[in-house]
Amino acid sequence: MQNLCVLGATGSIGKSTLDVVRRHPDRFNIVALTANRQIDELVKQAVEFKPDYVVCANPDDYSLLASGLAEEGLSAKVLVGQDGLITVASLPEVDTVMAAIVGAAGLAPTYAAACAGKKILLANKEALVMSGDLFMQAVMKHKALLLPVDSEHNAIFQCLPASFCEHRDWSQLGIAKILLTGSGGPFLKTPMAELQHVTPEQACAHPNWDMGRKISVDSATMMNKGLEFIEAHWLFGVPKELIQVVIHPQSTIHSMVQYQDGSVLAQMGQSDMRIPIAHVMAFPERIDSGVAPLDFTTLASLEFLPPDFERFPNLKLAIDAVEAGQWASTALNAANEISVAAFLDGRITFLDIARINNEVLEKSASHVLSNIDEVVAYDLQSRELANRVLEGL
Ligand code: NDP
Ligand code: MG
Repeated sequence: MQNLCVLGATGSIGKSTLDVVRRHPDRFNIVALTANRQIDELVKQAVEFKPDYVVCANPDDYSLLASGLAEEGLSAKVLVGQDGLITVASLPEVDTVMAAIVGAAGLAPTYAAACAGKKILLANKEALVMSGDLFMQAVMKHKALLLPVDSEHNAIFQCLPASFCEHRDWSQLGIAKILLTGSGGPFLKTPMAELQHVTPEQACAHPNWDMGRKISVDSATMMNKGLEFIEAHWLFGVPKELIQVVIHPQSTIHSMVQYQDGSVLAQMGQSDMRIPIAHVMAFPERIDSGVAPLDFTTLASLEFLPPDFERFPNLKLAIDAVEAGQWASTALNAANEISVAAFLDGRITFLDIARINNEVLEKSASHVLSNIDEVVAYDLQSRELANRVLEGL
């Protein structure tokens, strides 16, 4: 029996995780569930999964959550705020932490899980983008097991030899290239002149995947692929020259590894996050994810294109940030969280997202980030800068 803590249980990844748990009550036991705004949903989940702990990120929601649980006759312990999230991510009785909070808010609890040597199922790519080497060092030092949930990284992981998990040394594996695929999102073929006027609803209507709103906008700007480029660099320890972004509009192949002998291994499947989630939850075994198998006889042709940096300037910003250093990835991620939230609130246009991100990077100074507190401080500073740039538009 694996004891699970699900950070971000009320989100898209959190709910898919609980769906896999629901199918395998003999394998998984929920110890802790966490939420931000959706307190009713958290109570509903607590009724079904009977966790020992529930956490709401906002301390003001304590009474609402506690009374909701009491009405259902539940005695789960209620914790609040970042301290509560860190506590449940490091509980001795927790074996596995699903890191599915969106954005920088997930960094502290995910880092705590690494320091507590947990098996970490990483969906929260922003945490790794912000902290890169520091996060990976904590994983190694505390012998945590870091498994990628992000479908591309999960695909790459599945295409690497099993021995990668033990020594994480890509240079011994004969890899020629990591081929990071991306659909190109809803605006791959939209005339450039129309991009100025696209709405949050259009941006969130991803052709292949059903996801939370922030990552959906990131997919539309291809910042998501940029964040994933940085994520792949840290997760697999490969230099940026070995990572190539390939547009694949059908999202049937979830990424590939090309070896020096010319072989290319690809992982394929339906666009349903329960596949990578079930893979990492059961790893190294395989279990039913609830997803129907691919029917190759019904597949249309598979297309592949190079990325267009003029259409997707955010992708270029992220690739360049790897070269510039950790401070640049941290600043870019912070700026992007501010600009995407402003776009979703109807305060700026779609094209302003990349403008703000670019200006924040131009105005940020190179900075050495030597511990997580410095990362958090630099993230805050970059958010303030992004807000100033936004007001000046
Ligand atoms: P959602 O927006 O659907 O869910 C986010 C979760 O985080 C919710 O449980 C939300 O709580 C919680 N949350 C939000 N803000 C805070 C905060 N300040 N403090 C604590 N908890 C918070 O996002 P997704 O599930 O789509 O994405 C989660 C992560 O997984 C992201 O990093 C994303 O990039 C990554 N990912 C997602 C994929 C997908 O298919 N959705 C695919 C690959 C990666 P509440 O809902 O209660 O407000
Ligand atoms: Mg992805």
